[in-house]
Formats: sequence, structure tokens, C-alpha cells
Amino acid sequence: MIRGTIDLHIHSVCSDGLDTPEEIVDVYIQEGFKYISITDHDTVSGIQRALDAACHTTLEVIPGIELSSIIDFYDVHILGYYMDFNNEEFLERIAFFKDKRRDRAEKIVKNLNLLGLDIQFDTVLRIAHGAPLGRPHIAEALLSEELVNTYNEAFVRYIGDQGPAYEPKYYVTPREAIEIIRKCGGIPVIAHPAVLNQDEIIVELVEYGLAGIEAIHPLHTPEKQLYYEEMAKKYGLLITGGSDWHGRGRSSMARLASNMGAVPQKTIHDMEVLLEGGKISDERFTG
Ligand code: AMP
Ligand code: ZN
Ligand code: FE
Ligand code: FE
Repeated sequence: MIRGTIDLHIHSVCSDGLDTPEEIVDVYIQEGFKYISITDHDTVSGIQRALDAACHTTLEVIPGIELSSIIDFYDVHILGYYMDFNNEEFLERIAFFKDKRRDRAEKIVKNLNLLGLDIQFDTVLRIAHGAPLGRPHIAEALLSEELVNTYNEAFVRYIGDQGPAYEPKYYVTPREAIEIIRKCGGIPVIAHPAVLNQDEIIVELVEYGLAGIEAIHPLHTPEKQLYYEEMAKKYGLLITGGSDWHGRGRSSMARLASNMGAVPQKTIHDMEVLLEGGKISDERFTG
């Protein structure tokens, strides 16, 4: 688990995490956290559940999402915070993402069948429990049918980016993702930029309304964290961070998260300033 009392990047069973929103809220309360955001891939279906679970507790749940987008073959993840997640136009866009993910998962299953693997689409659906379908669900299905020995083997042998059964996702551009989040009052933040490692994309996105950089992430070295913090300051952007938790055993991130920096209280304060239409100032908290 991430140090400190703030974690703004968490996945639940509503996308491809292993824990329910209620379980996540319970664990974070036990660990003494003050703010969390559940940022499921392309869905907001876990937010109300987390808000309800955290009601009358010391934990504040910030509505969040992580949208996948693509530009020039680069996978760009855009986090959104504090959007009005009941906004109808927003929900329509999200539903479209979900349909597209279903079509794609069906294609991947067909590819696996052509490779001689006896796996049913229904098995994947059962495992996903209504969540937007992702490769992790397909990996779980392959594991449950004993067609692979480990979760990771599914990616290495079949469904990884270079795997023989891989299919690309439906993508919007990062600019569209930013607009989707902005239109319903949210704060768009670029997720784990060191993984992307294309800083000129970030600079371009600032013009389209990007408001923050996730400098603090388990896949970022301390040097990269500092580098992106400086970049955020240079462009007047918000600095955010989170553990990208998907549940125990889901990735190596859990182990890495304990080594990463804590998310400062200033992040929450700056988000509130942005919501009120203000600008982030460097001097705040230093004077
Ligand atoms: P999707 O959004 O359906 O393309 O699935 C992406 C998710 O699959 C990532 O967030 C990871 O959780 C997981 N994933 C992708 N590649 C790998 C890999 N090589 N090994 C393990 N998990 C992976
Ligand atoms: Zn994920
Ligand atoms: Fe991501
Ligand atoms: Fe994530």
C-alpha cells in the first residue's frame, strides 16, 4: 500500500481490479487514509458504491475514472477527478466504450479458439460480473479453464500486446478524453507519464485543457517523480499520485507501491482551487 493518507489511483471489480468498492473503502479506512479515488477503466459504476460505503466515515471518496486514449500509436491514460458522474452525455460516452470493449473481447476469444484453445465467451462474461471487458478477465478465464498455469502466462503466450490473439481497443484521442472529462466538470490528469515517456505529448495536451500530471506512481523512479513534479510546476499543473492498485496478486504494483512517495495534502487543496476556477500557485503552503 502507498504511504501517507491519499491514494488517487485505484481499480475495483467494476473494471479489472480484484476488490469491490466496499472492500477498498474498508481497507483504506483501516489504514487511516483520508482521501481515495476509485479510477476504474472507462467506467464510473463503482463510484456511488464507494461513496455509500464511506458515508459517515473519516474517508472521503473522490469520484474518478481512467480513460484509455491513443495518439500516434502511444497509449495515453487520462485520469478524471470530481466529474459529475451522473451527467447523461458523459454516461452515454462511457456506455459506448463498454460496448466497444465487449466486441473486442469477443474477437480475442475467437482468436484464442482459432489457436485451438477451448474457451467460451460466457466464461469471460461470468468472470467480469458486468464490468467493461478487459484482457485481465480473459486471462482469468484462461486460468480458470486451466489453459494457462499463471495469470501472466496468458499475456506472455496469447493476449499480451505482441501476443497472437491480441486485438487493439477502441480508442479516443487524448484530446477527446480530456474533453469528455472537462464537459462534465472533471479535472483531467495524465496518468503515469514516465510509462508513456513522450513529454511533447504532455505539452500539447496542456493546450487542450490537461490540468494535472500523475507524478507519483509505482512505476516512477524517485528521479522521474521529481522530474514530473518540476514539469507540473513549470506549466502550472496539478501534481497527483496513486498506487494503481488492482488487488493483491494482480500485478507487481502492490510491492512497488510501498516504495513510492506519499501524495501531499496540497494535491487535494489544489484540486479544490481548480474546481472553484482558480489557478494553482507555487507559493501556497510555502509562505
Ligand atoms: P486492456 O485494457 O483490456 O487492454 O487490459 C489492460 C490491462 O491488462 C492492464 O491494465 C494490465 O492490468 C493488464 N496487462 C496488460 N499487459 C499485461 C502483461 N504483459 N502482463 C500482465 N498484465 C498485463
Ligand atoms: Zn487496470
Ligand atoms: Fe493506466
Ligand atoms: Fe490504472
